[in-house]
Amino acid sequence: MEHDRSSALFAKARRSIPGGVNSPARAFKSVGREPVFITRGDGCRIWDTDRNEYIDFVGSWGPLLLGHRHPAVIAALAEVLERGTSFGAPTEAEVELANLIVGIVPSVEMVRLVNSGTEATMSALRVARGFTGRDMAVKFAGNYHGHVDSLLVKAGSGLATLGISDSAGVPDGFAKTTLPLPYNDIHAVEEAFSRHGGEIAAVILEPVVGNMGCVPPMSGFLQRVRDLCSRDGAVLIFDEVMTGFRVALGGAQSLYGVTPDLTTLGKVIGGGLPIGAFGGRREIMEQVAPVGSVYQAGTLSGNPLAVAGGLSTLRYLRDNPEVYERVEESGARMQTGVMEAAGQVGIALTSNRVGSMLTFFFSSEEIRDWDGAATCDTEAFGRYFREMLAQGIYLPCSQYEALFIGACHSDVDIDRAIECARNAFRAIA
Ligand SMILES: *Cc1c(COP(=O)(O)O)cnc(C)c1O
Repeated sequence: MEHDRSSALFAKARRSIPGGVNSPARAFKSVGREPVFITRGDGCRIWDTDRNEYIDFVGSWGPLLLGHRHPAVIAALAEVLERGTSFGAPTEAEVELANLIVGIVPSVEMVRLVNSGTEATMSALRVARGFTGRDMAVKFAGNYHGHVDSLLVKAGSGLATLGISDSAGVPDGFAKTTLPLPYNDIHAVEEAFSRHGGEIAAVILEPVVGNMGCVPPMSGFLQRVRDLCSRDGAVLIFDEVMTGFRVALGGAQSLYGVTPDLTTLGKVIGGGLPIGAFGGRREIMEQVAPVGSVYQAGTLSGNPLAVAGGLSTLRYLRDNPEVYERVEESGARMQTGVMEAAGQVGIALTSNRVGSMLTFFFSSEEIRDWDGAATCDTEAFGRYFREMLAQGIYLPCSQYEALFIGACHSDVDIDRAIECARNAFRAIA
């Protein structure tokens, strides 16, 4: 497989863009090679600028549950292009998208659209602080909530992959408002509440973590956190930017039956266009301007193209619930197949999966938190990644990310990926 054109583009990119990329997760830095430049996608396949073809298990890092260029999404976008791309004024479609989200996500009574997941978590946290009149936020190590100043503490994949512990440029005062705790450790949460109960504005968490690799919540963890928040008047925020409309139509909160006060969304709700949303209990959301005094705004919020991408995707998912069965089957097939292949050559591998989110960890231990994830053999992961790429399997370029299976991956695609994994394991064993 040749990558001459990607190499040339990367050299050019590095002169004008820091690190040659517009988001660090794409840099391939930790897997010891340069990124490939993508020109085209269709279904679950992508092509790079050197005309190499890949089966895509990144799906734009989560949004593309329906794959590239899904006909329903393309038709909706084309229709918007006939009418204009932005007005900075209310439109009917954004009301429909809001109503669809309110109708499906259990905790959401009102919702505001923004332009990214980062904006959603930043705004949700501000609203929680405005609502409670408190400053402190509890977060969990290895959970990523976008590059919000006070949440860039022990923030999972992006920083960990680059060996950065916490970001420069975040004032101490901001970081001090954040209390990081180990995920799945309910005793740590109980202790934090017994010490600081009356000061905690919000607990924010990924109800299924995707950003230290896929790590599901242990039985009872989410409910116990819910109870503590209710007892002490803290706002519980589920960051479902990755899990929303992915692990189930109603997100992780419907899968586990635990209802947060606020929910943040992104990724799938844009169907591949830039969007985010935060929503929740009416009494909390009515703190947001222009009803309440918590300011939040956006020139391009509710952008017609992004809304059309989201509306067409969510309608399709609502009307075709078999998508979730399909990706569950594909996910199970891939998990079983790859684990067997690793076992056959004696590679120490463990895996976590919730539906179409799946991570193979180069470790023999069960991974339930950041300390566990951090012990993985990232060298071995890097070799595995390169072997897979060379065979046309495009995976997330970090041990600390989940791969995503989409509705368009066929059994043949999954079996091909398993076969390539078998070859990769043989090569590195
Ligand atoms: C991707 C992600 C974000 C950030 O979303 P952006 O659109 O990249 O700003 C926040 N939280 C979680 C859980 C995510 O997976």
